[in-house]
Formats: sequence, C-alpha cells, structure tokens
Amino acid sequence: MNEEVMLPGLSSEFNEKFAALVRDKNFSGLINAKELEKLFNLTPNKEDEILIELLKFYENYAKTEVSNFKVSAVAKGVSGNLYFGCNVEFEHEALNYSIHAEQFAIINAFNHKERGITKLAVNYIPCALCRQVMMELNTSDKIKILLPENRKFSINELYPDPFSPDDLGIENKLLGHNACNMQFLSESCNDDFLLKSALSAAENSYAPYSKNYCGLAVKTDDGEIYNGGVIENVSFSITFSPLIPIIVKLINRKQNYSKIIKAAYVETTGSIASPRNLTFSLLKTIAPEVEIITAESSLVIS
Ligand SMILES: [Zn+2]
Repeated sequence: MNEEVMLPGLSSEFNEKFAALVRDKNFSGLINAKELEKLFNLTPNKEDEILIELLKFYENYAKTEVSNFKVSAVAKGVSGNLYFGCNVEFEHEALNYSIHAEQFAIINAFNHKERGITKLAVNYIPCALCRQVMMELNTSDKIKILLPENRKFSINELYPDPFSPDDLGIENKLLGHNACNMQFLSESCNDDFLLKSALSAAENSYAPYSKNYCGLAVKTDDGEIYNGGVIENVSFSITFSPLIPIIVKLINRKQNYSKIIKAAYVETTGSIASPRNLTFSLLKTIAPEVEIITAESSLVIS
C-alpha cells in the first residue's frame, strides 16, 4: 500500500478499502454516504476518532508554498457524505487569496450541492475567519467541531456573540439556500457551452447580500470543464470569488491550474457589487495564457 494513504490508527481492512476509494479515477474529494457507512464498519473506532484519523490523508493535497504549514479538514454533510479539505496558498499572489482547510471542506460540500454540515474535523484550532465562515452555514447552531486529542466544540463555544447572517436579515443561509433561475441578456450566449456552464454555476451560487449571482467556468487543455459560483459572507470581506470553488475542484482531481486555457464569466446585470476583478486577477496569475469571455444575465422571475 502507498504510504500517502496509510492511516495507522484504523484497521487494515479500512485502509485497504479507503485506498481503493481515493485512488479511483473519479475521486473528487468526497466519500458518499453509502460507501462511508461500509467503510466505517471495517474498523472498531468510533466515528469521531475516524474523522480525526482521516485528516492525515488530505494533508497531502495542501498547497503551502508560503507557510509550509499543512492543515486538513473533513466535513460530514447532512446527506451522510464526507468532504475533504486542505489549505491552499498561491505562489506570487496576495496572501488574501489563501483558502483555509475548513473553508475548502465547506466549499467542497457547496460544490457537491450538500444541504448542511453536521461535523467538521480539523487538525488545528479554527482561526477567526473560519469561525465566521462556519457561522454562515444553515447548520451553524448544530455543527460539532472536532480536534485531535478528543477536543470538541460547538460554534457557540468558539464564537460566542457572533455577527451572523441573522444580523442582515438572511434566512436561507449557506447550503440551505435555493438555486435561482437565470437567463442571458443576449440569447446567442446559449450557443456557448462554457458560458452555459458558468450560468449554471451562477444559478447555484450563494449571493444573498449583493444579489449578484455570478459564476465562472473554465476549460482545461484536455477538454475538461469545471465551474463555480460565488459564495458570499455576512462579513463581505471573506466572500469567495467564483474561481475559488473551481480551485477546490481542480485540487480534488489533482489537476494543475496552468491547464486552464479558457474561462467564461457570467454575472447579474446592473449589480451594485462584483467579484469580477478579483476573479480575473487570480485567474491570470495561475493561468497566464487564459482567454476570458464574459456575459450578463438576469433573474427569471416565475
Ligand atoms: Zn481559518
């Protein structure tokens, strides 16, 4: 067995099945509920212990060119699915773009249309930003945060007296939000597959504050398409541009950013706020040759 997926605290049967799952060519950073249940039956350890042990796996995915400080996380969804996360830094770019492991796991769940998170295990105490990101979740009052050495917290313990989406009157919080229905201003955009993929990401984005439902789709040099929607936060400044969910998808598939050759960006016409410049700035650093096309859309009110 390859050492990179060896989890010494769990049974050899577990390790064997786990290695097969994560080495599958279709592995995309999650283990679905059905597989997870079978997997957990292969070791005598309790679920919380298994989640902590699983953290060792995604440390290998972390991109820490600046800090060399590897953090990993796993989030369990209300569906029973398990989503992995690791921290990501971008060489030659502002530290502001960095993705923390807890954020990665939550974005991973968002990408897979998970409807809530019940547990989040992480190998270091969550920073204040991650506590704010967790506060955005529809399950923030129920989520259990697990740390090594059997330390367990509620979000209320880590972040008492929070500034939350409630303060801005938001009811449908992150992962509990509904997709919207959008159409291009120009009908001809429907002929472009990449723009359509970006529109689909925009429809599934989380933009309760600006109402700028926006999405990005990228094409890699092997013809694969990845899309992502914006994820806003009540703090505004911890909003993830639509490129960040795509970065999460690429890392889950062990793909290189430099493989991106084309991108399509779609945003809601007339919006008062936009992550457009932020998105393009990072995109041009990680994929300097990228060709970018854009389009505007509007909500379809039914
Ligand atoms: Zn953090």
